[in-house]
Amino acid sequence: MNLSYRIRLILTSCLYTLLFCSLGAQEKPLQIIVIGAHPDDADLDAGGTAALWASLGHNVKFLSLTNGDAGHQSQGGGALAKRRRAEAQESARRLGIMEYETLDNHDGELIPSLEVRLQVIRRIRRWKADIVILPRPNDYHPDHRNTGLVVQDAAYMVIVPNVASDTPPLKKNPVFIYSQDHFQKPNPFEPDIVVNIDPVFERKIDGMDAHVSQFYEWLPWTSNSLDQVPEGKAARKQWLAGVRNWKLKPAWKSIVEKWYGPEVAADVQYAEGFEICEYGRQPSHEEIRKLFPMLGSPASVKAVKTEAPLKIDGLLEESIYAQAPRIYLKNSLTRELTSDPAYETYAQVAYDDTYLYVAFSCNDQDIHSSFSKRDEHLWEEEAVEVFIDTDNEAQNYVELEVSPKNILYDSYIVDPVKIDVPETLKYNLKAIKTAVKVKGTVNNRKDKDQNWTVEMAIPFAEIAEDFSPDQLPLAKWKINFYRINRDASPLKYLSWRPTQGSFHQPSKFGQLIFR
Ligand SMILES: [Zn+2]
Repeated sequence: MNLSYRIRLILTSCLYTLLFCSLGAQEKPLQIIVIGAHPDDADLDAGGTAALWASLGHNVKFLSLTNGDAGHQSQGGGALAKRRRAEAQESARRLGIMEYETLDNHDGELIPSLEVRLQVIRRIRRWKADIVILPRPNDYHPDHRNTGLVVQDAAYMVIVPNVASDTPPLKKNPVFIYSQDHFQKPNPFEPDIVVNIDPVFERKIDGMDAHVSQFYEWLPWTSNSLDQVPEGKAARKQWLAGVRNWKLKPAWKSIVEKWYGPEVAADVQYAEGFEICEYGRQPSHEEIRKLFPMLGSPASVKAVKTEAPLKIDGLLEESIYAQAPRIYLKNSLTRELTSDPAYETYAQVAYDDTYLYVAFSCNDQDIHSSFSKRDEHLWEEEAVEVFIDTDNEAQNYVELEVSPKNILYDSYIVDPVKIDVPETLKYNLKAIKTAVKVKGTVNNRKDKDQNWTVEMAIPFAEIAEDFSPDQLPLAKWKINFYRINRDASPLKYLSWRPTQGSFHQPSKFGQLIFR
């Protein structure tokens, strides 16, 4: 990106800040409080989901209602409470959450008293919680059970001004959500939301690993398995990952599909489940998506990682093309769906640390194109197009087009409503590679052609600010794919996500997920 372009971008983004301050207010971080009985319960119940919230800029607090001073075979009292408080702080640091508070109630002695209820009400209020996560009140451990009861008892009182009147009440009742358990009576846990924690699974284990007194000393002692804890930090952390089963339960698969779509769901390994509590605010489907932004959009494309760089020759022959899902372009600008095999069009996405690879396959009986220079107006004839929004602001995005003659059009859109074409064309990617393979004869309008395929290698470093490959698993990029086929009346404009009226509707792009 050249300097004048950069300045223009900065000016434009300042303008957007001014224009959309209400949007900014709407996008303020979510406030989440996860409440457990002991200083490791929240980590177990929601450590992965908390790390995902935190990585997306939301504010998570863990709260332990007891100080954990009974959880050890040879230590106890204040010294143990102090040790466990320090372990909790270290876990918070590793998970990236804002706060881990440990109340000074005794471990093993928690009762759902008015005093504890008021402690909880004040904490939820001060955190201005949008979401409160709690255990269900069915559990073998009285502290867990009573934590469930006491938080349930706070679910309505947090909005009642005359209760704990020294702390301003919440204007909006939070959503109360149970964390998962395996207890069957009186009723089993039935998740409404299942979060894919694969991107942060190691971080969850890393958080648990901070609770040395629990996972490597006390809990193995209670299950007579102290001798199984390996020596050495790396070995025991690896052992810890296998001690509890975080694998997605087969019965939950359909819930993952509901939130992530079948393509993503097919790959999910580790998950945390949550069930909406009947008390507190009852969220709509749309609100759950806002509260759990890591669920992503159901319209998502999976970019598959390739170990070897792809040869950009227009041939979709590498084995990665057998793995990458086909993204069919079936929407036209006028809402009709097309499934005519004569015009069948699909895209595929792969990536490595350097390039985003986008491929197209277009069935076409008449392949033609008169353009011969970069940045000519390819959309006036036949072209494939990909729009990529790397900052999740739905305002500015990269537009790339390729013609059957392998001519490239690359531009950067800053105002989708009023596109200044000459200005957007100043954007030129230096390291981009494209290739086209045609089955047929380009520009012989009399014979019958079959198909053309396109490969693009798009340099990450040029399309994303401060790019680092490590961030890709958490990236929230948006994308859409298009094809213009002028001779296929009325199916001239095909897209993946429907964008009736104009291709330039970034809010309607689908999600691009890196796996
Ligand atoms: Zn516990």
